[in-house]
Amino acid sequence: QTDLLKGKRGLIMGLANDKSIAWGIARACREAGADLAFSYQGDALLKRVRPLAAEVGSDIVLPCDVSDMASVDTLFAAIEERWGRLDFIVHAIGFSDKDQLRGRYVDTTRDNFLNTMDISVFSFTAVVNRAERLMTEGGSCLTLTYYGAERVMPHYNVMGVAKAALEASVRYMAEDLGKKGVRVNAISAGPIKTLAASGIGDFRYILKWNELNSPLRRNVTQEEVGKSALYLLSDLGSGTTGEVLHVDAGYHVVGMKAVDAPDI
Ligand code: NAD
Repeated sequence: QTDLLKGKRGLIMGLANDKSIAWGIARACREAGADLAFSYQGDALLKRVRPLAAEVGSDIVLPCDVSDMASVDTLFAAIEERWGRLDFIVHAIGFSDKDQLRGRYVDTTRDNFLNTMDISVFSFTAVVNRAERLMTEGGSCLTLTYYGAERVMPHYNVMGVAKAALEASVRYMAEDLGKKGVRVNAISAGPIKTLAASGIGDFRYILKWNELNSPLRRNVTQEEVGKSALYLLSDLGSGTTGEVLHVDAGYHVVGMKAVDAPDI
């Protein structure tokens, strides 16, 4: 428990259930004293999101489908009416047709390519664009990415291409908003079993591979992503923008792992 975010107001987008990365981040922010608002996609999720929001002291639970700009505008109008300003946003949203998160990237359809880019990349740009106006005292914007942006990972396919574009957009927006004291960063999280991840082919194999081959010899948790998010969202990260911070048990530094057996 700290006061790192005491008096700060943050919008968390992408909470689906208690396995969501957004939930790990929300809890870390609340423990640091933040006041939180949540957006959710579709009526079906409301009954899950409302009680979770209540657990972290929030009754601001608003619908937003990021593929609809009117819906994004309505969300930010509601935040402005309620709070007047905003200190941070967390964008923990991604989507692609799960039939194309297996097989070959080269077979991606145009429709799914555009939809994946729209929901997983452009939506972060769109929400940062709206948040900027409300971040009158500086601010911090955070999105979630994955190593599949940098290297080929099994089945990640079009999502890897989208994450590469998302990471580039983090750098461009960091430059756009830096003058105003608004920072824009991403966390590249190691694989975590969530609803979205379960759509990726052979996800259990990816989890096991990371566990066996990362320097820490294990996978990361939602809590660990939450703690790192706290660094980027709070004053601890005041000198950091345009960054992609790996929270992946070190997996991204490994070219080839040494054999663990001592006598080989
Ligand atoms: P999750 O299923 O809990 O969250 C994904 C969220 O995206 C859901 O809340 C869903 O409602 C939301 N979403 C999808 N389409 C939307 C739309 N049109 N409008 C509004 N919201 C929409 O899964 P998660 O793993 O917590 O995913 C959060 C982020 O973390 C994603 O960007 C994902 O790519 C990223 N990530 C996940 C992992 C992992 O292994 N789980 C690793 C690295 C990065």
